Amino acid sequence: MSPRKPGYVVPETLAEASEFLREHAEDARIIAGGTDVLVQLRRRGRAGGEHPRWLVDISRIPGLAGVSTDSGTISIGAMTTHEEIARSPIIRKGGPLLAEACASVGSPQIRARGTIGGNIMNASPAADTIAALAVLSTRVRLSDRMGTRDILITDVFVGPYKTSAQPGEVLMEVYFDALAPTCGSAFVKLGRREALAIARLSCAVVIERDDAGRVTRAAIAPGACLPMPARVESAEEMLVGKVPDEAAVDAAAREVAEEMVRRTGVRWSTDYKRPAVEAITRRAIWRALGVNVE
Ligand SMILES: Cc1cc2nc3c(=O)[nH]c(=O)nc-3n(C[C@H](O)[C@H](O)[C@H](O)COP(=O)(O)OP(=O)(O)OC[C@H]3O[C@@H](n4cnc5c(N)ncnc54)[C@H](O)[C@@H]3O)c2cc1C
Repeated sequence: MSPRKPGYVVPETLAEASEFLREHAEDARIIAGGTDVLVQLRRRGRAGGEHPRWLVDISRIPGLAGVSTDSGTISIGAMTTHEEIARSPIIRKGGPLLAEACASVGSPQIRARGTIGGNIMNASPAADTIAALAVLSTRVRLSDRMGTRDILITDVFVGPYKTSAQPGEVLMEVYFDALAPTCGSAFVKLGRREALAIARLSCAVVIERDDAGRVTRAAIAPGACLPMPARVESAEEMLVGKVPDEAAVDAAAREVAEEMVRRTGVRWSTDYKRPAVEAITRRAIWRALGVNVE
């Protein structure tokens, strides 16, 4: 039987953490900032459910925090908080939409504790950083005591709140190529009015254009409306090769909304979500093109 409160272990190395997690696979849970884990434990406790037997605090493992850049690649340690990312000059220059996404998370208290690693590995369809990381073609590094594997951010997820990480694997860092100065980007979020609302819908966009204004690269990822985080390539293709005008942007935004319906099926919320996703995508595309529309 699980104890009323989980035990708390604080490994000093990745090898120690990985070994413990592998040994106690079903019974142990990593804790980073705890802003998801503690809420979930309390909720489960109230519902009479079982706690994991162990919480494994990874904050003392070296090399897990901070933002750095090398030869055009930006790396962010898994323990880096939303606040640190939102303020980082490296991110504001090379991935400004990620800074916007992190700045939009929760409240100052949540941003000061919540980490990018926790946001990813909680695998909520409403996690704010994931859409931004997807359009930056981010790769994540998962390590255990046996080695390391790097995968695309969109390959981390196998279902809502489910990841492809194996017992013993720790997310160490995420990395992506810094956006060129010719790239425009935007993260737009539609939350509830309350300050602590988690995003109902969001959209992240990166667009690169040539000297003639023609789109050479487009990446569009809606947030909180697909069962699993993903880019919508059919909408991206509608922009590539064009000098974007109202018709092209409208068509791409409509395609994102249609793709949501194709992937989720028609639900009670579709009447509200379809036009909302279309509107938020349109706004994000125009903002990435340097035009502010409401
Ligand atoms: C009031 C409130 C408001 C919030 N608002 C938002 C919001 O606006 N947008 C949003 O996206 N989220 C929001 N959140 C959710 C939460 O704050 C974020 O998801 C945060 O980034 C989680 O990070 P953490 O470090 O606290 O994760 P934790 O709670 O410590 O962990 C979350 C999950 O990730 C796993 N994990 C953590 N780190 C690693 C790692 N390095 N390797 C492997 N697994 C790991 C844990 O085992 C756990 O399953 C909110 C939460 C609260 C309580």
